[in-house]
Amino acid sequence: MSASPTPLRPAAPRTAPVTPAISPAITDAADLGTVLGIWAHPDDEAFLSAGLMAAATAAGNRVVCVTATLGERGTPEPERWPPDRLGRVRAHELRASLAVLGVTEHHLLNIVDGTCAAQPHDAAVWRLAGIVDAVAPDTVVTFGPEGMTGHEDHQTVSAWATEARAIAAPRARLLYATTTEEFVQRWEPAREAFDVFLAEGLPLRTPADALAVELRLTPAELDRKIVALRAQASQTGGLIAAVGEERFRQWWSTEAFVAAESVSSGAREWGTWRVAA
Ligand SMILES: [Zn+2]
Repeated sequence: MSASPTPLRPAAPRTAPVTPAISPAITDAADLGTVLGIWAHPDDEAFLSAGLMAAATAAGNRVVCVTATLGERGTPEPERWPPDRLGRVRAHELRASLAVLGVTEHHLLNIVDGTCAAQPHDAAVWRLAGIVDAVAPDTVVTFGPEGMTGHEDHQTVSAWATEARAIAAPRARLLYATTTEEFVQRWEPAREAFDVFLAEGLPLRTPADALAVELRLTPAELDRKIVALRAQASQTGGLIAAVGEERFRQWWSTEAFVAAESVSSGAREWGTWRVAA
């Protein structure tokens, strides 16, 4: 999911301040209608929603993906992977990954990796609103205001997507990717080894009764997700090799989303919680 360093403000709640969902969580992606995913870097969409996309396209639903940047700075080895080269490779990887999931409609905003928050806010929102309007989604999926990992690009894209949907598709369901206690327990040892999530207190633990969508991927859906993640080898190859395929499969075998309206306004404060990009 890109980038690394040190949290600038490490204190944060570990349980998401959400209200319980009004209706039971959706467990079948076919019920989501036309889905528009809005993400910051290639691989964000795969880690957080590949199963959702695979299940939705398999059911005949239209799925469209937006990626803000090519994640061309997402490497600890910038001399081996200068931004031009990494950006080209990640563009190819993303195309292959989306193809695995049956997603044929993709929009790249072509923003420089790590600079989303520095973009003129209103222009970015209106550009995105144009895409939302053209797609006319039933469901929009993106990061929560905390940005999942605390990455500033993620937080900014969450804010853009939230405003763009309010402008262009106010009746569409808006879902924020989140994590549950079960997921965090499974993930914690790997986090300590690889520091995937950046800031203390993340990822969030959303109570199970607050989830709007909870997908437990079938073996076939999980196969597609793993192939889609493997397609983005510049980001996932080392991780898969290190944790092993079976553990990696278990780790990413569920996907969870919370309805934006059930996230308390207090959570918006996390938009000021920055990690160095
Ligand atoms: Zn990312």
